Amino acid sequence: MQRSMATPHAPPADLRRSLEATLRFARRSGAWVVPGVAAAGSGDPERAGETLDEIRAALGDCRRCRLWQDRAHIVFGTGDPDARVVFVGEAPGYHEDRRGEPFVGRAGRLLDRMIAALGWSRSEVYIANVLKCRPPDNRDPAADEVAACAPFLERQLAAIRPAVVCALGAHAARALLGVEGPMTDRWGKPAERHGVPVVPTFHPAFLLRNPAAKRRAWEHLKTVSRLVRDPGVVDGPGPAR
Ligand code: SF4
Repeated sequence: MQRSMATPHAPPADLRRSLEATLRFARRSGAWVVPGVAAAGSGDPERAGETLDEIRAALGDCRRCRLWQDRAHIVFGTGDPDARVVFVGEAPGYHEDRRGEPFVGRAGRLLDRMIAALGWSRSEVYIANVLKCRPPDNRDPAADEVAACAPFLERQLAAIRPAVVCALGAHAARALLGVEGPMTDRWGKPAERHGVPVVPTFHPAFLLRNPAAKRRAWEHLKTVSRLVRDPGVVDGPGPAR
């Protein structure tokens, strides 16, 4: 248990603005690695061959951003370390925080059904989030929290080396693709990141609220399945629309 009764605090406004400007720059350049944040990424020679266990050990009892203060557990990720597909969500929710495992509530059960529809089980893919600690009241991730935490996801992806990454929801897709703005024209369209196609689809929690969107999500998932079988040339992130 890593809970603390300390009161969460926000960084000073000027520091926050500076971090957000830095993160915007990092996103535009397609990188998560920003000055002052532990470097990580595909192709980092010092970390080549790193295992998921080693990355988890490096994360430790992480206090790199304010989210440690209210968490019950760090939610590192789960699944096959050699998975061909990695599903990436935004951040743990209440149930995930309590269990220390990603996607275990209602949305998680729907994700399991989505994975099963593609012919896989949860143990055959890998599931993680951009943030490894739950934001209070499930609020949106802050830019400095993403900057602090996402390098560990980057290292996980470099260790797993999947054929395809499926981004679940707009926050995960923007963080993975380094884009901002509406996702309207990006859903279901593979975009290459560090040589790996990223397919953005709707978050399972959104699908629970909007079941009519499941048909479109299924088309996105079929693209994931096709890319696992036949990786091809995909577009870059391109300008936000
Ligand atoms: S969200 Fe990530 S960076 Fe922030 S405390 Fe948790 S593990 Fe560390």
